[in-house]
Amino acid sequence: MQRDQQVFDLIEKERQRQENGLELIASENFVSAQVMEAAGSVLTNKYAEGLPAKRYYGGCEVVDQTENIAIERAKELFGATWANVQPHSGAQANAAVLLACLNAGDKILGFDLSHGGHLTHGSPVNFSGKLYEPHFYGVNKETGLIDYDQLEEVAKKEKPKMIICGASAYSRDWDYAKFREVADQVGAILMADVSHPAGLIARGLLSDPLEYCHIITTTTHKTLRGPRGGMILMREDFENPFGLKNPKGELRKMTALLDSGVFPGTQGGPLEHIIAAKAIAFGEALSDDYLNYIIQVQKNGNALAEAFMSKGYHVISGGTDNHCALIDLRSKDLTGKLAENALVKADITVNKNMVPFDDKSPFVTSGIRVGSAAVTTRGMKEADMTKIVELIDTVLMNPESEENLAAVRSQVNKWMADFPLYKHLDSLV
Ligand code: PLP
Repeated sequence: MQRDQQVFDLIEKERQRQENGLELIASENFVSAQVMEAAGSVLTNKYAEGLPAKRYYGGCEVVDQTENIAIERAKELFGATWANVQPHSGAQANAAVLLACLNAGDKILGFDLSHGGHLTHGSPVNFSGKLYEPHFYGVNKETGLIDYDQLEEVAKKEKPKMIICGASAYSRDWDYAKFREVADQVGAILMADVSHPAGLIARGLLSDPLEYCHIITTTTHKTLRGPRGGMILMREDFENPFGLKNPKGELRKMTALLDSGVFPGTQGGPLEHIIAAKAIAFGEALSDDYLNYIIQVQKNGNALAEAFMSKGYHVISGGTDNHCALIDLRSKDLTGKLAENALVKADITVNKNMVPFDDKSPFVTSGIRVGSAAVTTRGMKEADMTKIVELIDTVLMNPESEENLAAVRSQVNKWMADFPLYKHLDSLV
């Protein structure tokens, strides 16, 4: 078969974009060469519906082993006793949990999307808001911190069957004990979606949600630095105090319900090549090198927020505990859309983001979200964060001057050459 140069040329173009640019999207990272190798391996050819040793297909002896390694390492990483590593993505992990725990029309209580929550926590445009009855808590307008009084008030009024903590754009730690106290008061299942801070949680830099939350979901590709994917974890199986039943009407243990929420509930065959890549990434995340990395991610997140504030930008909640910061651009008279577009032209990638109590639409927004996970993988330190913010500020002071954007782009491209990313791939193109 002839090599498909059309597509490979585009892949090479994307590699160069990643290599030459400054990547500040808080949900992105750069995987290691071995994670990428596993993701592109022959395991992509294998069907393996079911779980290790309980498959619906023959020939699964090898993928049973790679999947078991991924499960064991995931459990070790988070101090869990059970893990399902099959969800194709974070959204799939959440879909599986909601399917396993809820009936159509049940009430859920999640973090408001416009305050930093995720679509799968009850947004009306997502399955979670269409199939279930969503209610929301948010942040305090003055402090930018979760409003725990409001959480309790809404929970007591609505008595949701599930409360969801976790976010896509919240830079502070979570009081999981408080969430559990509220959940217990109203008899709700407590789920934490830790997609963003997963790596910081795994290595003990943030509070441990598994101590208080019944079920944890996460993506594997953000701070955890694995392949694109999701997983579900529990510290303890529990004897189903919520009386949840399977489709046959039988009472089942939570872990069995969650396994069947993934398959056959919401997915078909697992992506065994990605599961092998997850196993490798989890092994990496258990290493001392990763511990040093994730400590630096947190330091760099803080340095980014501090540098923005020292240049007069409004950082929501006045800083960050994790890898990301949310910048409200209204005081600079800029929109998120304009900022994102100008920065992309200077090879600096961020995403526009709603800020709490935003008066603009999600297509325009008043803010940008930045994160330190990807630039830290490239080897950057706190002083580099200050330089990054200086470059961003130069763009945003004069976002419509093509000359200004080209000058910053050239500086970024030269600088990035000092932090090579996928050097070994040069020989493959
Ligand atoms: N949950 C949270 C909190 C997220 O931030 C995201 C993605 O950004 C997801 C779920 C969805 O993950 P995926 O894009 O892998 O479906």
